Amino acid sequence: MKPVLCFLIFFFNISILVGQTFDVEAIKVSGDNDKRINLVFMGDGYTLFELDKFVTDATNFSNSLFSQSPFSEYADYFNVYAIKVPSNDSGTDHPGTATDVTEPHNIPISNVDTYFNTSFDTANIHRLLYTYSSSIVYDVLADNFPQYDQPIIIVNTSEYGGAGGPYATSSTGNNANEIVIHEIGHSLFDLKDEYYPGDGLASEAINMTQETDPTVVSWKNWVGTDGVGIYQHSGSGNATSWYRPHQNCKMRYLGVPFCSVCKEGIIEKIHSLISPIDNYTPNNNTVDNPTFPLDFQLDLIKPNPNTLESDWTLNSSNFATNVEDVSIEATNLIDGANTLTVVVHDGTSFLRVDNHDSFHVYTVTWTINYSSLSVDDIESEVNSYNISMFPNPTTNVLNLKFESNTVSDLNVEIMSIDGKTINTSKLSNYESQQVDISNLSQGVYITNFYSGNVLIASKRLVKN
Ligand SMILES: [Zn+2]
Repeated sequence: MKPVLCFLIFFFNISILVGQTFDVEAIKVSGDNDKRINLVFMGDGYTLFELDKFVTDATNFSNSLFSQSPFSEYADYFNVYAIKVPSNDSGTDHPGTATDVTEPHNIPISNVDTYFNTSFDTANIHRLLYTYSSSIVYDVLADNFPQYDQPIIIVNTSEYGGAGGPYATSSTGNNANEIVIHEIGHSLFDLKDEYYPGDGLASEAINMTQETDPTVVSWKNWVGTDGVGIYQHSGSGNATSWYRPHQNCKMRYLGVPFCSVCKEGIIEKIHSLISPIDNYTPNNNTVDNPTFPLDFQLDLIKPNPNTLESDWTLNSSNFATNVEDVSIEATNLIDGANTLTVVVHDGTSFLRVDNHDSFHVYTVTWTINYSSLSVDDIESEVNSYNISMFPNPTTNVLNLKFESNTVSDLNVEIMSIDGKTINTSKLSNYESQQVDISNLSQGVYITNFYSGNVLIASKRLVKN
């Protein structure tokens, strides 16, 4: 531990020495920064007198993003901020070194003094507007908004251009809002281009594959709906060995929606980053002189329309469904420790969850210690689970895995549809497990996942 600590302290001192602070303007605040995805805009090539224009440009980008699905539905999962970084000069560099166009292309050659050193003609591609000065980018973030999830640099030029990567870059020209949204698709949501990006960038991903079997491909649940299929790429190199899910997705063309496969990938990533349980009460360990009824409440971050579903369980029995608060009377309790659990998951039709590879479940558990007509104390614990079950359908082996923010076990039960238990197993946090189902006859089964005695998820399993 010690060398790491020294390194951090060293870094910390340096940043105090050279750190520079700028005004940070909130553009959209949905909740606490540690419970939201924080998009942070920074401007390059905006002079001190153009910072109002920068905030206006950032606000326009934000409004455009949250007017489009699935960001319109999941807007409350995001905060947006703008760090007002002034540059000495207006605009950006254009060295005229691109080989894909006849230079100078549309705008004159320029070499201007901007804070982040952005430039056209990166890697000899005219529209590739980028900066290699990543240390400057990360210093500004560390000194001004260290809770960032996705930095976006807006460059003050009307010429078309932008880039993905760890920080997204875009000009303010035609289609600029669309470039930003496309680049966020790369940077934050791990989506690939659905035009052929070249052999160097081709790999298995949410929306790119070499698999051609529609029953096996990762987006198999969408094949045949919403225009989703398995479409061969064309172009240079090994293009024809790669496939995309759609012919007309924002990861291919600007100005069109994301395809269903990309929307699903975006929502899955939102779920892996942010729990929909924003807060819950009581969340203290002791309740002094409680009176009945005891009230328990969730504050949820709701998609619009709200697709969150909740199941409340008291001492292993169902207590309430799809409500955000419950009241418990003394007559509901037993002497000793009582367990109240609420399980929250997103039932949105954007996720084809039946045999989706992974799914997210969030829980709050309260332990109510009750004796002789009074409550001694109430302890609470919050949990999130990322559960994977694949392949599905399957013939011989089912792989199970789960990740949780606290170390615990899940009990897994495979049931026939008439309710007979066929197989049970225990699953440890972060450990993959294979279940041999070669002996099962073909058909549909139910896989139940239990935390303690509480059913937290139930998924359909198809045996071929
Ligand atoms: Zn797509």
